[in-house]
Amino acid sequence: MSLLIKQAEAILTGLKGAEARHPGTDIRIEQGIITAIGHLDALPDEKVIEARHCVVYPAWVNTHHHLFQSLLKGEPQGLNHSLTSWLSVTPYRFRAAFDEETFRLAVRIGLVELLRSGCATVADHNYLYWPRMPFDSSAILFEEAQALGMRMVLCRGGATQSRVIEQSLPAALQPENYDDYLRDIERLVGRYHDASENSFQRIVMAPTTPLHSTTPSQLKEMAAHARHLGIKLHSHLSETVEYTDAAYGKFSSSPVEFCAEQGWIGSDVWFAHLVKLSQEEIQLLGESGTGIAHCPQSNGRLGSGIADIIALEAAGVTVSMGVDGAASNEAADMQSEAHAAWLLQRARKGMMAIPRLQGGRFEGGADAATIEDVVRWGTAGGANILGLTACGTLEVGKAADIAIYQLDDPRYFGLHDSAIAPVACAGRAHLKALLINGRCVVQDDNLANVDLHQMQADARLAVKKLQHHALA
Ligand SMILES: [Zn+2]
Repeated sequence: MSLLIKQAEAILTGLKGAEARHPGTDIRIEQGIITAIGHLDALPDEKVIEARHCVVYPAWVNTHHHLFQSLLKGEPQGLNHSLTSWLSVTPYRFRAAFDEETFRLAVRIGLVELLRSGCATVADHNYLYWPRMPFDSSAILFEEAQALGMRMVLCRGGATQSRVIEQSLPAALQPENYDDYLRDIERLVGRYHDASENSFQRIVMAPTTPLHSTTPSQLKEMAAHARHLGIKLHSHLSETVEYTDAAYGKFSSSPVEFCAEQGWIGSDVWFAHLVKLSQEEIQLLGESGTGIAHCPQSNGRLGSGIADIIALEAAGVTVSMGVDGAASNEAADMQSEAHAAWLLQRARKGMMAIPRLQGGRFEGGADAATIEDVVRWGTAGGANILGLTACGTLEVGKAADIAIYQLDDPRYFGLHDSAIAPVACAGRAHLKALLINGRCVVQDDNLANVDLHQMQADARLAVKKLQHHALA
């Protein structure tokens, strides 16, 4: 049976330029695929989603998360720390405290938050792995995503050598053996990886950070092995100046040059953050077609800075957006992230304005990013980076991953242009429906089989339990 989204007030497509807005009002979906967009009449027996006073976006694609951190929001000891000390104080201090139950709950909370913001796809950079670990965190991520009908790309993180801040941790949190890491990648690829363009399960080689988690020779081997397996590469890079200091201190090159030497740039690689870069590094990333997961809220929360997305995109970098872990972003949903990206790119450019008397050429940065740009980064850009080429845009022939926002909150009253509302007006809009591959997984903000009151109670207990088991 086909499905018709009828009488939408606006449709944003995730495409560029004149195609960013579709003039139609209706979208037909058959067998999970968009088969028509325009002014359409309902067919006999067709199921209709009434979208009057609604705007329709491609479902968001989140390209960088750490779902286990969904139970570490606003952790007081780390709240006012910058990246490196925050890592010790919050995520590492709590890492050993997670068991199967708390990990599963954290994953579920994070996925539900994302779904309710209209997100269909998440790339989770999971680094909760250690030798003889008593539960399979990879399996839990896929199980929870599957139960909710969401697309999961597992970026298999972890470390094969310890970083100074990890050396004082209990034995259970010591790095993995390199061969065991590679064996697990192969196990995961064999069990889960679906390379199709409309995939719901993918594996990515993703040591937690290229500068600290592995040796240069292992990094080089990992890149070659990932390409042999046909999987992509992901990691954190240049989030703060610490990366620049570490790369020059240890390897006498810039972070991006170091990665390039190990085969870690290219169209099959994307990095989270890329806040602190030289002009040469931007050039190198652009020429190689490397991608970015832009995480403006986490970068703001940790005081890291604002990535120069405009320069990166102009150089040829594919831009996507990620919420990053909730331990450094208490608004880990894609609508909040998109709102922040929209404002911060403008603010960043405005910060560079100087008076004309001193040679300045512009007043402010309001032309840095449009709503359509931000939507494209957060949808098509993400699908492109993940290789999910059937997803990310609203076009005939694409998978029906569609968010329908109902503008019934007073914050939207008085708008001259409804299309911009879900990003420009901030906050989470009423989600009339979220379709993933044509299947309705959220209806009027509700998810089937998810009891939010129970989840809230479970989360309160889990936070107490984690606090009790955290390192001192
Ligand atoms: Zn991260």
